[in-house]
Amino acid sequence: MRLYDTFSRSLVELPAAPGPVRMYFCGPTVYARAHIGNARPFVVGMWLRSWLRSHGYDAQLVHNITDINDKIYEAAPGASAELAARATAWYLEDTADLGLGMPDHLPRATECVPQIVAFIEELVAADHAYASGGDVYFRVATFPEYGRLSGQKPDQVEQGEEPSALKEDARDFALWKANKPETEDTWWDSPWGRGRPGWHIECSVMAEEIYGPAFEIHGGGLDLVFPHHENEVAQSRALGHAFAGIWAHNGMLRFTGEKMSKSAGNVATIRETIDEWGREAVLVFFLTASWRKPIDFSPETMAQAAARRETLRNAFTLEPAAHDESAWEAFAASLEDDFDTPAALAVLHEWASRRQLELLRRGLAVFGLESLAERRDAPPEVAELAERRAQARAARDFEASDRLRDELAALGWQMRDEPGGGYTLVHDA
Ligand SMILES: [Zn+2]
Repeated sequence: MRLYDTFSRSLVELPAAPGPVRMYFCGPTVYARAHIGNARPFVVGMWLRSWLRSHGYDAQLVHNITDINDKIYEAAPGASAELAARATAWYLEDTADLGLGMPDHLPRATECVPQIVAFIEELVAADHAYASGGDVYFRVATFPEYGRLSGQKPDQVEQGEEPSALKEDARDFALWKANKPETEDTWWDSPWGRGRPGWHIECSVMAEEIYGPAFEIHGGGLDLVFPHHENEVAQSRALGHAFAGIWAHNGMLRFTGEKMSKSAGNVATIRETIDEWGREAVLVFFLTASWRKPIDFSPETMAQAAARRETLRNAFTLEPAAHDESAWEAFAASLEDDFDTPAALAVLHEWASRRQLELLRRGLAVFGLESLAERRDAPPEVAELAERRAQARAARDFEASDRLRDELAALGWQMRDEPGGGYTLVHDA
């Protein structure tokens, strides 16, 4: 199994099973309902865990919650902790509804402040950091490898942080920030006075708290390479910790061709997308692009994903062909080669057309889509009635749709409509 590593800019072989493969994927800053782009690192991390576990790996996923941040202070002046708690609950609820299970640990920055303070104290003691005016900064000049992850020369590093007269060097970044009482309603005591941790140090500490100083994979969006992950590398490796072995950066989600951002006003939340299209279409949508490449989110691409979902689901209304176990190899090979989900999806479609239903069910299960196999149990006349009703519904012929629903009910079957035109057939017990 190989994955692309941003640090070495090459495909890197994972250790042999059982590993372990310990993964840390950066999670959201919680100040609003998370947008659909935030679901991508979650989905990629959960799929990798599922695939590796099915191969006998001891795979774990840590996904952190950034619940101390300027954006939270700005969004809820005087009530930032309440907003962060509410938005954390939304994120957990929305990602749970993707039906992939949950990460092994979901640490929150607010729960790790004493450990963060201790880590900063170590950096200060080793001269890699210095206190200045109630803040503490990382001294970039003491870490010659700085810039390597993002591919910049140490003396020409782009400035990731606000300029400040408190810094020795413009490249230095904050590990601890003094409390600003007029805008910040939460703070913690520290040897440098009241304040709160910077964003980058939270992830170095949360990852190492759970995994120790070395682990196999660090994930997150490509937009985090600099400065966030560059600074994580500096903080941890300055203390001699190996930190992440592979840096796995997922491509960004683009809204009608543009990188989706709140400032552009193009926002679809995870919640809205699941409600409108159904969780299975959301997962099929993410399968359509390589995890490292950008992915275009639009009503058209979601409609295509919903149509693919129906094609895969409809395969289970057919009589299975003779099982061909050797065909599994092509699917496994796609995923072992940098987790190429578009290639794996093509194999799933091939199995659907060749009626390799047992393989199809197993392949779908890797991605949390085993529910698409439920229709297999419906007899052909029931499946046909359901298809006619779905067409009537799509044509807004509600009279025919109701009549067909009653015919299905008379045969003991219920048709549960789903967002995006899909449905599930359930036999009355
Ligand atoms: Zn992070």
